Amino acid sequence: MSSVLYLIFLGAPGAGKGTQVERLAAASGLPHVSTGNLFRENLQQRTELGLLAESIMNAGDLVPDTVTIDMVRDRLARPDCAGGALLDGFPRNLIQADAMAEMAGAAAATLQAVFLNLDDTECMNRITGRRQCRDCGLICHVRFAPPQVDGVCDQCGGELYRRDDDNPATVERRILAYYRETAPLLGYYHALRKFLTVEADGAPDQVAVRLREALAGLVEFAPE
Ligand code: AMP
Repeated sequence: MSSVLYLIFLGAPGAGKGTQVERLAAASGLPHVSTGNLFRENLQQRTELGLLAESIMNAGDLVPDTVTIDMVRDRLARPDCAGGALLDGFPRNLIQADAMAEMAGAAAATLQAVFLNLDDTECMNRITGRRQCRDCGLICHVRFAPPQVDGVCDQCGGELYRRDDDNPATVERRILAYYRETAPLLGYYHALRKFLTVEADGAPDQVAVRLREALAGLVEFAPE
């Protein structure tokens, strides 16, 4: 088997992709590549890409494929991705999935999709209380995983904020975009026999254990 591994995390907004991938990155040494975080970083730095993405993200729609694919290609070409990457939020439609397949082919990488399965009501509950650190990107939840100090990141002391696109109207559009554009990827990877499902209900620790079990043999974990 190839030693380069691209793991693709699928799941509705709020299913826990960011939280779980961040943990998995720490446990495996594979970098967390989140297209949402890359767009938000670009926005914070007021780059051309960030300004292009801003209104689209705030509306809950998808950023055009060409710029998104180019951004991921650049990111995966960086040295820290030489052994692979954990992709969170990409691919998000069939065009991006085809581009991902091509990138995996060029890197002689193994591709595997992991679907975090959670029902919509629970996704909504998670999103409405979600807070993210402006500096390190850590995700917490005001009720389910509260920070030790209100508004302050446990990991780096940065400011916790509610994402602009986590308001109910935008979330509704993001969920629609998910079902229209991204859900077809479940069948796409299933047909390729590159698909596994992890139940994403319960506490982050419980999901992390299930994920680790599901990935045993595929991912090398650092000793705990
Ligand atoms: P996320 O952090 O994954 O929830 O993404 C936040 C927003 O960034 C999405 O609602 C989209 O507007 C944009 N975005 C993230 N990833 C992609 C992608 N692969 N393709 C297009 N737009 C994306």
